[in-house]
Amino acid sequence: MSHVRIDVLQRAARRGGYAIPHLLGGTTELVVGQLRAAEQLRSPLAFGFAPEVLPMIPLEIALPVTVSAAEHAAVPVATQLEHTADFEMIVRAIRLGVSSVMFDGSQLPYEENVAGTAEVVRVANAFGVAVEAELGAVGGSAVRTQAPVEALLTEPEAVVDFVARTGVHSLAVSFGNAHGTYATLPELDYDRVREICSLVDIPIVMHGGSGLTAEQYRHSIEAGISDIHCYTAIAVRAWDDVGNRISALDDTPPYHEIVGHTVDFFCENALRIIEILGSRRTC
Ligand SMILES: [Zn+2]
Repeated sequence: MSHVRIDVLQRAARRGGYAIPHLLGGTTELVVGQLRAAEQLRSPLAFGFAPEVLPMIPLEIALPVTVSAAEHAAVPVATQLEHTADFEMIVRAIRLGVSSVMFDGSQLPYEENVAGTAEVVRVANAFGVAVEAELGAVGGSAVRTQAPVEALLTEPEAVVDFVARTGVHSLAVSFGNAHGTYATLPELDYDRVREICSLVDIPIVMHGGSGLTAEQYRHSIEAGISDIHCYTAIAVRAWDDVGNRISALDDTPPYHEIVGHTVDFFCENALRIIEILGSRRTC
């Protein structure tokens, strides 16, 4: 079956020395273009959906589009509702068929993050759905509807306690990475990732992965990261790129043809990300 849990893909990536390209789903253009790239390069893929997109696209439309694409894919694809501490929304996402959810309690006091994550894990386990949590806080904001979050580095000792008490399946960590666009290249603390990976057996995830150098991706993967989220660096270029493609044409195309150009843009970007993360021809 092509629709799989995210931790299954992450564990295979760790063993294989590459990272899962974790891209945004939820719109037809994103899903069709990026899946085409994954199938072309025989790469596993993760589609996330962030609640910040909900004012534009309802959950009940975004997730079925993404889940259906995963179910009909020629490569293994995981689907995930990301970055929410809203228990009800997580249950709705599970009902809509996602293979994975993320309970983001990074803005809560530690004990509340533990309790909230453990509660989601209990429910998700009953449905065979994987849960990712976040410890420390990945700074920045990938979307402009949300104020930037202040970064708080993940403490390795806290990870041991957190994983033992929550039973969570994978964990997003903060080691200098941030959501959104990097004004200057960040200093990434690879030793922190290495230490965390030596202490716990669950996959470790990097959010805020767009706009880094090829070397930074490679070092992150070598340190133990098995899943890298990329969105903003692609997203902010979409308008200019698609606009250029259309202005090069003789006539202004009808809307569905503009969608085609957008699909091509996201496909080309995904091809590049898959090459950089080393997941080509791994499935
Ligand atoms: Zn994120």
